Amino acid sequence: MKYVLKTAAPKKLRFDLSRDLNPQQLAVVEAAPGPILVLAGAGTGKTRTLTYRVARLVAGGVPPERILLCTFTNRAAREMVSRVEELLGIDMRRCSAGTFHHIGNRILREFGEAVGRSSDFGILDPEDARTLLSAVVAEQGLAKLTARRFPAPKVLQSLISLATGTRRPMRRVVEEHKIKLLDQAVAIDHVAQRYAERKRQMNLCDFDDLLSQWMRLLEDPELASVARTLRARYDHVLVDEYQDINAMQGALVDAMALEHRSLTCVGDDAQSIYSFRGADIRLIADFAHRNAGATILKLTINYRSTPEILQLANRSIRHNKHQHPKDLQAVKQSGPTPALIPLRDVYQQAEFVAQRVLELHHEYNMPLSRMAVLYRNHSHSLELQVELTRRQIPFSVRSGLRFFEQAHIKDVVSYLRARENPRDELAWVRLLRLWPGVGVQTAETLARRLSGAEDPNQHLRAGASPLPARATSGQILAHQAGFARGRARPALERLARLWAVLEDPTQVNPGVMIRAIVGAHYSDYAERTFNNASVRKDDLEQLAGFAERFPDAREFLSELSLLQGLSAENVVAAGDPDDHLVLSTIHQAKGLEWPIVFALWLADGRFPMKQSLRDPASVEEERRLFYVATTRAADELYMCYPLIEETGDGPSRWLRPSRFLAECDRAPAVFERWQIEEAPSDADPGT
Ligand code: ATP
Ligand code: MG
Repeated sequence: MKYVLKTAAPKKLRFDLSRDLNPQQLAVVEAAPGPILVLAGAGTGKTRTLTYRVARLVAGGVPPERILLCTFTNRAAREMVSRVEELLGIDMRRCSAGTFHHIGNRILREFGEAVGRSSDFGILDPEDARTLLSAVVAEQGLAKLTARRFPAPKVLQSLISLATGTRRPMRRVVEEHKIKLLDQAVAIDHVAQRYAERKRQMNLCDFDDLLSQWMRLLEDPELASVARTLRARYDHVLVDEYQDINAMQGALVDAMALEHRSLTCVGDDAQSIYSFRGADIRLIADFAHRNAGATILKLTINYRSTPEILQLANRSIRHNKHQHPKDLQAVKQSGPTPALIPLRDVYQQAEFVAQRVLELHHEYNMPLSRMAVLYRNHSHSLELQVELTRRQIPFSVRSGLRFFEQAHIKDVVSYLRARENPRDELAWVRLLRLWPGVGVQTAETLARRLSGAEDPNQHLRAGASPLPARATSGQILAHQAGFARGRARPALERLARLWAVLEDPTQVNPGVMIRAIVGAHYSDYAERTFNNASVRKDDLEQLAGFAERFPDAREFLSELSLLQGLSAENVVAAGDPDDHLVLSTIHQAKGLEWPIVFALWLADGRFPMKQSLRDPASVEEERRLFYVATTRAADELYMCYPLIEETGDGPSRWLRPSRFLAECDRAPAVFERWQIEEAPSDADPGT
């Protein structure tokens, strides 16, 4: 008998490619699979083109799960994926899309066994990573041994991270970034190795591990079969914001695409702004070397901004010597000339922005969400945050948000971490220390026993009954409570009872767990410890509400760690109404656009930063950052700077506008200076 298997009919395109895309973009979308690099300026539709390429692949019959899409933030990935869903009317949930860290996390949950991580590994956030680094330094006696002080954990952390990200030996990284520490390079390398060992013992990954362990899966000769499975999983790899990836990410992309060679990367060398984190623009330059037969394509038409805004951006970026020259052509109609607004001081700067925002909102019906305020450093937004709050203008701050980094949040989360990954000694120590009568030493000893690093029966007193093998954490706690003295004993007994609840396999919802922890312990602790206990308890209730939506604690913890990670993209909103003004660092605003953009603190020495002025390459990076800022604006751009800076104790200082503006200041003008006058206040008795 003959039996014919029908292949599913390719999805009908619901859209007309030649209507939605220009010919240059269409060429990218329709290019045959193979290595492709799209090198193009801001707002030329790189992200849009990549999205359409995904849609076209799926429409042509590629199952969504065979596509790997790497983006700068998870939010960007979600937006691209849902756009594809809109275009095709199909479910794209099985597409692997997100940041490199997000994807690495997923892959290691599945294949981590091969590199010494079981699927329940915990993720170390940067603060915990520093704690572990200090422990390693102390353990090796380095703090005392060397004549000079050993570098602080923060410095070690960034050196280790750079060495991993750039895939270079520690010695070279130290040479390049901290030459003064060169005589300690060997010891630093030792610390790095020991730190790696400790993470493995504790079944933990830091953010860099999410990439470097994934890389090991792909290139360790002993893991060749894992590598084959991993590679065979995807038929197409696509990468947005390629200009900001580091050597590790570049290698990952190349390795994942090694067999099928269907690799589409889009980027703009003029927007490379992460070299401080090891991003390497040379990856673009030698893309064609690494990928024989690569096609390099260009997009030259900017759809985002008015000609006025582009003129300013084009004129500025031309001052960079090490830059592929490219002028963006506008298709939009003419709009207002970008404004340069000198203000008396930071307070007046904040008042100006708040007042102008309200004006645009009320008089021109501009929704708040269509405006953004961008700045070089997070601290540049503080006065504005105060002013917005005073005027009750809802706003959100996009940045490595502090909500999840606060002590009370991390305390409660440490319970979940220890529950999910009992080998996580750091989590145990953190939560044990919260209990009355439990000091550092006791906490550390207990943590070793709970994590399996030490046998709880080892120091048993004569006559005491031993713990059965394979005891649960709850049982170990109950057992240990029996030997505790003073206040620690009832405390540990209570903790053991709480743990029995947390361990209950029929109850896996992380929101419920958080409420149990707060109810049985943390609420009390907060009352005793914090002045603002009630605010903190509210926070925890919010956290429980957020956690509730996850199927289990592991998913919740992964999301949490990745949220506060490199790709920090959380939004803390005052009340979080739908319509709010966005405040963001320029770094975090990459790839985004708003009709109206305010840029703050465009004073020389602040932007570019003083520290960058010694090194021409750094100034060029700052100029690229300025280019990113200006090209976020579609219609109106307001560039503000304070004329006077208070210096705390010393005399105040006069500031000049950023050199990035000064150097563009010639005819024909690309910006217009505004003069701010203060209206006499209504309440002024003189009027
Ligand atoms: P960036 O460099 O900032 O990441 P980009 O090159 O990724 O920018 P997109 O964000 O994809 O550019 O596109 C910029 C804007 O232009 C978006 O609003 C997009 O929808 C619009 N756009 C791009 N191409 C077209 C087109 N062919 N027709 C209409 N609008 C377009
Ligand atoms: Mg983009």
